[in-house]
Amino acid sequence: MVRLSRRNGMPVVMSSTAFSSLPLAPNQLDALDALGYKAMTPVQAQSLPLILSGRDVIVRAKTGSGKTAAFALGLLATINPRFFGVQAFVMCPTRELADQVGKEIRRLASRMPNIKLVLLCGGVPLGPQRDSLSHGAHIVVGTPGRIEDHLKRGSLNIESVKTLVLDEADRMLDMGFADAIKQIISGMPGDRQTLLFSATYPQDIQRISRSIQRNPASVTVDDVA
Ligand code: ADP
Ligand code: MG
Repeated sequence: MVRLSRRNGMPVVMSSTAFSSLPLAPNQLDALDALGYKAMTPVQAQSLPLILSGRDVIVRAKTGSGKTAAFALGLLATINPRFFGVQAFVMCPTRELADQVGKEIRRLASRMPNIKLVLLCGGVPLGPQRDSLSHGAHIVVGTPGRIEDHLKRGSLNIESVKTLVLDEADRMLDMGFADAIKQIISGMPGDRQTLLFSATYPQDIQRISRSIQRNPASVTVDDVA
């Protein structure tokens, strides 16, 4: 994935940007092809090797840089479709973002027909979400408030989560979700992989990273001209 090259006689580290350089299943490469994703974006090229290795990662990169596919490819790689328990869990600050993330994961899972994703956001009745969960789900994408509601009512089981993603973590903290997030995570297995995505890197992000991640690798993609 990473190779040494020479520029002006100096060795420089070059990351391959071909998705095929990653340890991805052929059906995953087909889905990327169908989507027209020809090469990795910089944040994908830097974070995906770490994410696919199973490490905890904290990723800071601006909006529009392709962070969703980075964590979506990571979580899809760990899902066992034959086990109908929640294995991947994504928290987003708003319903609109959760919606977009759900759509992107579904697009990237287009060659995995048996994967079920459930959206858990507020503003709609709980009943249909509860019914959906009761039939088994592999992936949950939602907002902290509604996720807490389901946990309190016993309609959501998070004991088999393998991959946890906090998307737009800085916004979730700005919205006052820190305690809800920590409370939710306390019910998840300790040996899960935790991926934290943020556009900014204030103190409270560093603090929550320390409390929910284990020895995280850090990826920062600066705006480059
Ligand atoms: P972020 O979460 O960093 O704000 P998104 O994940 O929403 O960014 O991605 C921004 C846009 O880039 C989306 O429309 C997505 O479909 C597109 N995109 C992501 N990765 C690639 C890629 N490797 N090649 C082409 N387009 C991509
Ligand atoms: Mg995003």
